[in-house]
Order: sequence, then structure tokens, then C-alpha cells
Amino acid sequence: MNFNILTIFPEIFDIFNVGLISKSIKKKLIKINTFDIRENSVNKHNHVDSKPYGGGEGMVMMAEPLAKTLSSIKKRQLGKVIYLSPQGKQLDQKKVVSLASRKNITLICGRYEGIDQRVIEKYVDEEISIGDFVLSGGEYAAICLIDAISRHIPGVLGNKDSYLKDTFSDGLLKGNVYTKPEIFEDMQVPEVLLSGNHKEIQKWRLENSLLQTFLKRPDLIAKKKLSKKYKKLLEELASKAIL
Ligand code: SAM
Repeated sequence: MNFNILTIFPEIFDIFNVGLISKSIKKKLIKINTFDIRENSVNKHNHVDSKPYGGGEGMVMMAEPLAKTLSSIKKRQLGKVIYLSPQGKQLDQKKVVSLASRKNITLICGRYEGIDQRVIEKYVDEEISIGDFVLSGGEYAAICLIDAISRHIPGVLGNKDSYLKDTFSDGLLKGNVYTKPEIFEDMQVPEVLLSGNHKEIQKWRLENSLLQTFLKRPDLIAKKKLSKKYKKLLEELASKAIL
């Protein structure tokens, strides 16, 4: 999968020199191409921003450097053009999974007060937000998006069950996980996880996933159409947990 990133700070993406994405780049499963918008500045001071028409605070990223940078990318490698923006549709796991099936994605990272609206109207296929808060640059949102998408690219994760069983994959939270030691500061790992009884462990994991979702994200429970059996089970688990 090929990611093109338009940014005035390409060095931010050095973050991908470590960890899972770095390994995936080496394995040629992912390619990350950064395009420095400043190289396409249309004035002698290398500025890519200007004051907003109508006055007001801050600066706005100019249309021409962005359009020139986009046109420097080969058409067949452009793919879907996404502007990371707090005004976009909020990213969720469903969107991440659907984007993971694409070959090329181009990400525009805004700065200052954002980018000239005419670029959005002419070149952007979709605006995506990573949450209802304002970042100082689209780069941080692009990093989150690339990382989340990469988990769904075949070969990136050693065990593909990891993303298939991740939180949100079936509309619920994954639930609690434990590792060595069996006792940590007087707290014991739930006994069933040490039993070796796979059927019982699976049952406990399902119950724990339902309960944790109910306790931490009741909105997800409301969205998920639970069968009568699971509704009853959840009622029992919840009453025990609240007592
Ligand atoms: N003044 C703009 C507004 O109120 O909508 C916010 C501009 S923000 C300081 C600068 C850039 O950060 C934006 O152009 C966008 O690319 C990025 N950004 C900020 N918050 C974001 C979010 N929640 N999701 C995705 N990108 C975001």
C-alpha cells in the first residue's frame, strides 16, 4: 500500500523509522512518500500561507502550492485524496478497514487555520477527523490513520487474529488481558485463564468483553443488536459487577 503525504514538516514522519511500520516498509508491504509543500511555494520567500480574506486570526494554507504538490504525484499513484481535518467525518474502525483495501491514499496535512476551501472542493475526496478536538497539524492525525490502516494490511501483523479480535472488530471492547506473574501486588490472574480449559477460557473472554463494554462504553452496547441470550447474560454479569 502506498501512502502519499503532503506536509510542510516531512521530518515528522521519521516516526515511522521504528516499530511495526518500519518493519513493514522494509518488507515492502507499505510505502510512505512525503511531499514537502514548501518546495512548491509560489513566492520568493517560500511562504505557503497567507492572511485569510475577510480578516480574522491566523493564516491559511494557500491553494497553489497544494495544487502543485498534488500534480507532482503520478495520477495512478494518487488514489483517494483525504484531507485530515477536525471538520471531517470522525474516523472509526469500519472506515479504517475500508481504507485498508485501497492501493494508494494521499493525505493532505493542514497547518495554521487550515487549507483554502477551493482545494477541498476541487481535489479532496474525503475529509477525515480523528476526534472532536483540534490538533496543531494534520501530520499527527495522518500518523494515527496510517498506523490503524497498516494493521489491516496482510503480512503487517505476525498474527492476523490480532486485528480480527481487536477492540471494535465485532462492535465490542476486547476485554481484560493478563501476563506473568500470576500474582502481582496481591492481585491474582483470573483462575480460569490458568486452567488450560479452552472452552471455559473462551466463555470467560466473551463475558468479560461484554461486561467491559457495558461498563466503559455503554454506547457500543446500545448500538450492537445483542441476541436475547446475550442480553440476559449481560444483565446477570452487570448485576454481579455492580453488587
Ligand atoms: N482552525 C481550524 C478549525 O477550527 O477547524 C483548525 C486548524 S488546525 C489548528 C490545523 C490543522 O490540523 C488542520 O488543517 C488539520 O489538517 C489538522 N487537524 C486539527 N485537528 C484535527 C483533527 N481532529 N483531525 C484531523 N486533523 C486535524
